[in-house]
Amino acid sequence: SVAMNLQAAPAKTAVKEACSCSGRQTYHDDMAKTLYTEADISKRVVELGRQIAQDYEGKAPLVLGVLKGSFMFFSDLVRAVEPCPRGLTMDFIRASSYGSGTESSGDVKLKTDLKREKVEGRHVLLVEDIVDTALTITTVIRHLQECGAASVAVATLLDKHERRRLPYRPEYVGFVCPNEFVVGYGLDFDEEYRSLPYIGVLKPECYAHLGL
Ligand code: 5GP
Repeated sequence: SVAMNLQAAPAKTAVKEACSCSGRQTYHDDMAKTLYTEADISKRVVELGRQIAQDYEGKAPLVLGVLKGSFMFFSDLVRAVEPCPRGLTMDFIRASSYGSGTESSGDVKLKTDLKREKVEGRHVLLVEDIVDTALTITTVIRHLQECGAASVAVATLLDKHERRRLPYRPEYVGFVCPNEFVVGYGLDFDEEYRSLPYIGVLKPECYAHLGL
């Protein structure tokens, strides 16, 4: 796929021009194909939630969402942790990677007001949208270990394991994802498409201006 290695989002104006000139008006019109439907996702989220409820029974987990891409998966997943263990709390951490062009440079910045005391001794369950090269998630894991977490595990909706730059395996995976750039259900392309309730691949025209 032409968009295979796309990491950084291009200028917003370029997206608008590229998409509006060929008459596409809605997000649905921009999609080439659907990979995971709303029904596929909700079924899988229920399964993951049950598994997590079992594994964290009696453990009062701190469920930590990695923003922004995970917001939709996070809110569905926490409701699916059934029966919910007492003491489950939630918080968020912001991670962004700065790459040159379309490849991640591996320079991952974390933004959080999460105090060390809130993490120390807790069983942390990180919630991610997608693990790709694994540079982001391993940076977040290291930070939590340094804060004294009792354990750190990861629930990711998508695992694009073909693109790993570090050997890493998440504990909970929704779907193993093909090596394509995906959007929807929280995942964006230049901040757009996050609101789509399903996950899919954009039409090549939406990338045309990138000259990939
Ligand atoms: P990693 O550090 O594992 O390479 O990348 C993790 C981050 O890159 C994800 O949290 C996500 O923001 C972004 N990312 C990786 N692959 C995709 C993709 O196919 N679609 C979108 N929208 N973002 C992606």
